[in-house]
Amino acid sequence: MLGHHRFALVDLETTGGQASQDHIMEAAVRVIGGDVDLEWQSLIDPLCSVPSFIQGLTGISNSMLRGKPRFSDVQETLWSYLDGAILVAHNARFDAGFLRANFARYGRDYRPRVLCTLKLARTLYPDWPKHGLEAICARIGFYSEVHHRAMADVDAMKAFLDYARADKGEAVFNFEVGLLLDLPVLPPSIRQADIDAIPCEPGIYRLLGEAGELLYLGGARSLQEQVLSHFENATGDSKAAKLARRVDAVQWQILAGELSAGLHLSAALRHEKPLLQRRAKALGKPCCVRFITEDSGELQLRLRSGLPANIAQTGELVGLFRERKHAKTRIRELAKEHQLCLRRLAVLVEGELCECGACALTAEGAGESAVASAADFAARVKAAFAGYLYTPWPFAEPVLIHEDNGAGFSECHLVYDWRHFGSFRWNAERGQLLELSGSAEPLDLAAARRICEQTQEFRYEHYRLLRAFQHNLKWQPLSQFTATIGDEYTA
Ligand SMILES: [Zn+2]
Repeated sequence: MLGHHRFALVDLETTGGQASQDHIMEAAVRVIGGDVDLEWQSLIDPLCSVPSFIQGLTGISNSMLRGKPRFSDVQETLWSYLDGAILVAHNARFDAGFLRANFARYGRDYRPRVLCTLKLARTLYPDWPKHGLEAICARIGFYSEVHHRAMADVDAMKAFLDYARADKGEAVFNFEVGLLLDLPVLPPSIRQADIDAIPCEPGIYRLLGEAGELLYLGGARSLQEQVLSHFENATGDSKAAKLARRVDAVQWQILAGELSAGLHLSAALRHEKPLLQRRAKALGKPCCVRFITEDSGELQLRLRSGLPANIAQTGELVGLFRERKHAKTRIRELAKEHQLCLRRLAVLVEGELCECGACALTAEGAGESAVASAADFAARVKAAFAGYLYTPWPFAEPVLIHEDNGAGFSECHLVYDWRHFGSFRWNAERGQLLELSGSAEPLDLAAARRICEQTQEFRYEHYRLLRAFQHNLKWQPLSQFTATIGDEYTA
């Protein structure tokens, strides 16, 4: 079980359910793992009378405990078995709590990694109606004359672990145990060699289920690291754990860099529907916030969907947001932060209230003098939105953005007016752009320019992605794209 770890299967019988006030009256331990297989048990004098229902449950009477070692007598021995081992117990919080409380009285800080066999049974066998130790024993055909005695329960746990490992197979068993212990584990059908085979290059990857169904589609700066992170983050009942349970295969495509990965990912997410992925964001239309000056001179905000078609010509200033809901939330936050009046900005719908200082004062009938002039107000609004203003396309023509993964793979992204018209390999010899898949006709630069004359919808995710790489990749206007650049690609 999980290679080099040592496991201490533990069961305690106690005089009650409260670790703070009740006492341990029997302890049993079986330590397994590596070459070790040791056991130890003892009755322990709780120095108090055992409630009669507990005597009935366990068969441990007051007279059996009289003269037995006290916890102070056995704690040294018990510690030697438990120290450094993973604590395994059925409903482990109970046993861990008693051990922690009792060891604390002797200055020992007991905080082991804990494997709860009750949780493990529920995870591995969710359809079993009961997961108590007796129910499990009946289910797996493990019979014992004794119940609710410490070593008998330890034996039952051991029998369950052996049964589950044989029944589910080593890979599934280790995976689920690893999840419960928060240890980094690989999905049952993925081997370390599969992970090692994934390159540490940028690209996109697909996690597939047993029937080849697409579970997750992602982009990464390092494919191997990113794929592994899905499994390293998997614990207990997390979404990552649900994903890891179903992953059967990993597919990937190496790309020239992070921008390329982002562009390919967003294209792929539009066509493919991964089953275990939150709905890809920004698939709808972005939302613009326009700054409209009324005849009165007052600045007001208007929300509209999509980018105005002629924005390049008019040079109009607009705030740009992923979607309408996001825009509304940010407007509220910015108004609060910069003390802007939402009523004055005319963005309140019926029933909504403005919480600005001026509105609070007018409500008390004394605020008008505190209201800023229209010009002052307008300046403050624009300053508040500065970080969200749409940046006009900074070139007069299309560009090719050169991206290189540093390992001999490079791409040219054809981009115009923040729209992505394709990613290509530059063939310097022929002076042509070749599509990555090789499916389309090669393009010379004139043909590339013609492609960019086609209308294409503005996509917020492309805009954001391109803006993020605006200053750390080589952007070449088509008219300046020369063989000197091209030469780099033939290397
Ligand atoms: Zn207000």
